Amino acid sequence: MPRAKDCVQILPITGEEIVDFFSSKSFLDALDRTANYTYATGYESGFLAERGIDDNRTKITEIVFSRPESLTFSYREGVQDVRRKHLYPGRQHREVAGETPGHYPFFKFHFHPEARGPPCPSEKDLLAADGVRPLYAKVSKWDVRPIEGVGIVDNQREIEMVLYQKSIRGELPREDIQELYEQIQAISVDAVVKCLRDSGYYKAEFTRYMKNGTDYVPCQDALKRLAIFAYNPAIQIESWVMKCRIRQA
Ligand SMILES: [Zn+2]
Repeated sequence: MPRAKDCVQILPITGEEIVDFFSSKSFLDALDRTANYTYATGYESGFLAERGIDDNRTKITEIVFSRPESLTFSYREGVQDVRRKHLYPGRQHREVAGETPGHYPFFKFHFHPEARGPPCPSEKDLLAADGVRPLYAKVSKWDVRPIEGVGIVDNQREIEMVLYQKSIRGELPREDIQELYEQIQAISVDAVVKCLRDSGYYKAEFTRYMKNGTDYVPCQDALKRLAIFAYNPAIQIESWVMKCRIRQA
């Protein structure tokens, strides 16, 4: 039997693939649905995109709509392959490696209902996102760096989004996250991105989508900048095979 270190595969995610994903039909469709919901209800909504280790393809695997009275989410449009799950901060730790078999999280996004001020991760968002990379390293020996995103939708015509991706492996000191959160309450989206970058813990970028007729379309300059999130996920195939065996048992 090969040793574990022999089974690590590097499955690069290129800048071009990232730009393609953020302008893909499935992404724009999920964005449109969640933006409409949050704008209409004032509740949070979001979606998860995962990447398959077999086919190297990125897919939207969950769309979630919040109902604050119960903290549960419902998906009411009859799409069969979308699982229902919580997206609330703090519960993201339950999203352990391989929750969709053979996949890992590529992008987690949610809308904040408040329309004033720039999109800005909450302290809970930062805390929840912080544990994901170490959790995958521990549970599956996978080194993955999901991109996190927070957006606001204004007048149903414009979506602004701040994206960030942890660039260090371990968990951040709690006080650093608190301090960052206090700094990040910024008046402009540029300042939010700058704070995240200056912390030394994240790659960060800002992007924007405008409604053109009935569809949201990406701002092309901002879209190209998202290529900075390219990286090389390291997947230990043995741990994935073991997980399959456990599932089948
Ligand atoms: Zn949030």
